[in-house]
Amino acid sequence: MAEFEGTLVQEELQAGTGERGAAKCPVVLITGAATGIGAATARKFAQEGYALILGDINVEALAATVESLKGPNGAQLPLEQVLAVRCDVTDKESIKAMVAAGIDQFGHIDYLFANAGIHRNNTILTISDEELELVVHTNVFGAVYTVQAVLPHMLEQGQGSILFNCSDQWFIGKKNQFAYGMTKGAIGQITRSLAAEFAQQNIRINAICPGTIDTPIAQRALSNYAQRAGITLEEAYQEERELFLSKRLGTPEEVAEMAFFILVKATFSTGSHFGIDGGLCAS
Ligand code: NAP
Repeated sequence: MAEFEGTLVQEELQAGTGERGAAKCPVVLITGAATGIGAATARKFAQEGYALILGDINVEALAATVESLKGPNGAQLPLEQVLAVRCDVTDKESIKAMVAAGIDQFGHIDYLFANAGIHRNNTILTISDEELELVVHTNVFGAVYTVQAVLPHMLEQGQGSILFNCSDQWFIGKKNQFAYGMTKGAIGQITRSLAAEFAQQNIRINAICPGTIDTPIAQRALSNYAQRAGITLEEAYQEERELFLSKRLGTPEEVAEMAFFILVKATFSTGSHFGIDGGLCAS
């Protein structure tokens, strides 16, 4: 712990120094990087030798994620290779500040994982206006604001790759998840329209579409379901596992491997929706 004394996560971003940093390695920006899929993807990119710009509203968990980062040699990732920032994707200014600080520190942003998202259980008849607003604002506007802040830098650089964290609900509908499914449908469509718009400028835009992955989002959803159904949490998990051909939930690390592949290696893919769902959508 000693080497991490001081502030790991910057709450108050300073205005730019005007002097641009110049990371020699490629740079990835990940929103919602504190836990779950975002944190696992941050760890994957760190292992592969990338510089990281990480944003989340959960600063305690984000600091723990920064501590967990290891470089290609297995040693703690040097702190100068990470910018971890309190960033609320529903707040345009917060995203702009993170991106400006990232450009200041590293000089460029090569990859964007627009990952931050929330889940709520509701139907079109039960959802409150406030909940509808919150889910749409976070999952759709948050992703849009993030791309609006990062894309101009990629265009200036002449290359970039963007990945949205979509959902199996791009392919299928699920009960009692009205707003969440609606927002992931929107993200799936945004993927296509942006891909068409920016392919000629050497920007690839794709979506990853996970089934149920064992992260805090899924744990909360299953816990809510167990309460409503009057069953134990373990019984809720067992029901969920049965939905998948693989008879298990996915892990954040499995999604991180695929996110890395799509962002960095899948150079002939754009406007695509990549399933990672243990066969759910095939059955
Ligand atoms: P997670 O562990 O809850 O990660 C989401 C992170 O985003 C959390 O740290 C959360 O903070 C943060 N966040 C929430 N609102 C934010 C905001 N306004 N600005 C910035 N950060 C915010 O869940 P996850 O499963 O890894 O989810 C990541 C993405 O994967 C989401 O877009 C989700 O829809 C998608 N996904 C997940 C699954 C699954 O089954 N897990 C399946 C398909 C798609 P708090 O902890 O404070 O909320």
